[in-house]
Amino acid sequence: MFVVPKDATSWVECPAGCDFPIQNLPFGLAAPKGRPEAVVVAIGEMALDTGVLVEAGLLSEEEFPILDCFIELDVESLRSLRRQVFGLLSTEDPRLRDNAALRKRALFPIADANLQVPIAPGSFVDFYSGIHHASNVGRMFRPDSPPLLPNYRWMPIAYNGRANTVVESGSEVVRPKGQKKAPDTEAPVFGPCEELDFELEMGVYVSHGQDPGKRITAASAEDHVLGLVIVNDWSARDVQRWEYQPLGPFLAKSFATTVSPWIVTLDALAPFRVEGMNQDPAPLPHLRVQGAPHFDIQLEVWLQSAKAKVPTRISRTNMDQLYWSVAQQIAHMTSNGTPLEFGDLFATGTISGSEPGTFGSLLELSWRGSRPIPLNGTGETRTFLEDGDTVTMKAFAERDGLRVGFGECSGRVVPSR
Ligand code: MN
Repeated sequence: MFVVPKDATSWVECPAGCDFPIQNLPFGLAAPKGRPEAVVVAIGEMALDTGVLVEAGLLSEEEFPILDCFIELDVESLRSLRRQVFGLLSTEDPRLRDNAALRKRALFPIADANLQVPIAPGSFVDFYSGIHHASNVGRMFRPDSPPLLPNYRWMPIAYNGRANTVVESGSEVVRPKGQKKAPDTEAPVFGPCEELDFELEMGVYVSHGQDPGKRITAASAEDHVLGLVIVNDWSARDVQRWEYQPLGPFLAKSFATTVSPWIVTLDALAPFRVEGMNQDPAPLPHLRVQGAPHFDIQLEVWLQSAKAKVPTRISRTNMDQLYWSVAQQIAHMTSNGTPLEFGDLFATGTISGSEPGTFGSLLELSWRGSRPIPLNGTGETRTFLEDGDTVTMKAFAERDGLRVGFGECSGRVVPSR
C-alpha cells in the first residue's frame, strides 16, 4: 500500500475544496487538442502528462513501457507510478518544480484535457448490492411479497451488461426505444422510452486476475483493484418492466453507461475505510472479509433541465450503504472460476440510503412517478427524465480537512433517433 502522508503538500496549487490534492493522484486518459493522447494524473486543477515524464527521463521507460493505454500496468506498477509521481509533485522536489520548460510541457489544465473513458472495458458487470435500493424496488414491483428475494443476503446479485456502450462523462445519451406494455393492454408497443432514469453507482476497474478455473478469495480480492470511478447506469424503466422476467435486464440497461474520468485508487481511499453494515446471516466462508471493507464516500446527484439556469441537488447518500463490499463482489464474480481480464469494469448497483432524499434513482425518488420532484428556479417537476435534462453525479470522501474526490459523472439526454 502507498498512502500519501496527510500533511504532504505540492508545489502545484490545490484550491480549498478541490477533489485532487496530492493525497489523491488519480489516473485518467486525456485526449487534449494539439497534444497526443496520454495517461494523466490529476493534481489541483491540472493534468500531469506521464508520457512527457517518461520522455524526460523522470519516469523509467522500462518500468512504464506503454503508458498511453495503461497496458502492462497491473496494480503494483500503478502503485509504483503513483509513488514516483508523488515524489515529483512534492513541494520539496526541484526536478519538475524548477524546470519551467518541462513543467510547461508536462502540465495542462484539466479543463482542456478532453478526458475519455479511462480504460475501455472488455466486460461490464452490474451488481445489485445497494440493499435499500433493492428493497425499494421489491416493494414497488412485488408489493405482496417480502421486498428482498431469499438469495439477496447470501450472494451479491448481478447481471452481465454490455461493455461497448460505456461512455465518458459529458457524452450525450440518446433516449432509447424499446418494447413497452401497459398493464391494461394485450400487446406491447415499440417506441421511445417514457420512463428514462439514472442509477447512482460506483464502478470498479480490475487488473489481471487468476487463471481460468481458479478463484479469488474475498481476502485477496482488493489486490486486483485498479481503482474506483462513478457510474451512471442509465435505465429505461418501462422497457425493463416488460423485459426483465425471467432473465433480468437486457435492453433497458445496455444503451448507455456513463463513467467519471478519474480512477481513484484504494490507496488514496485508505483513510476513509469503514466497517459498513452488519451482514446477517454471516456470509459463506469464501465471501468473508476482515477489517473495514467499505468506504465512506459521499455521493450526490444533481439534475438540470434545459430551461434551468442552475442545477438542483436531488439526492445525497453514501457508498457505505452497500450491503456487499467490493472485495465480496470480486470473490463472488470469480467463484465459478471465471478469470478477470485487465480493464474489466463492474458497478456496485444503485446506492440508496434509507430515507427519502437519499435514493439513487428517480424511480425511488419519485416513488414510481407518484411524488414529482421540484426543480430549482423554473417551477418544473420531474418524475422521470425529459429530453435536455443533464444528470451530474459527484463523489468525494472528506474527513479531518482531507478531501479525496472523483470529479463528476455527467450526461445530457437527447431525443430518440
Ligand atoms: Mn444498475
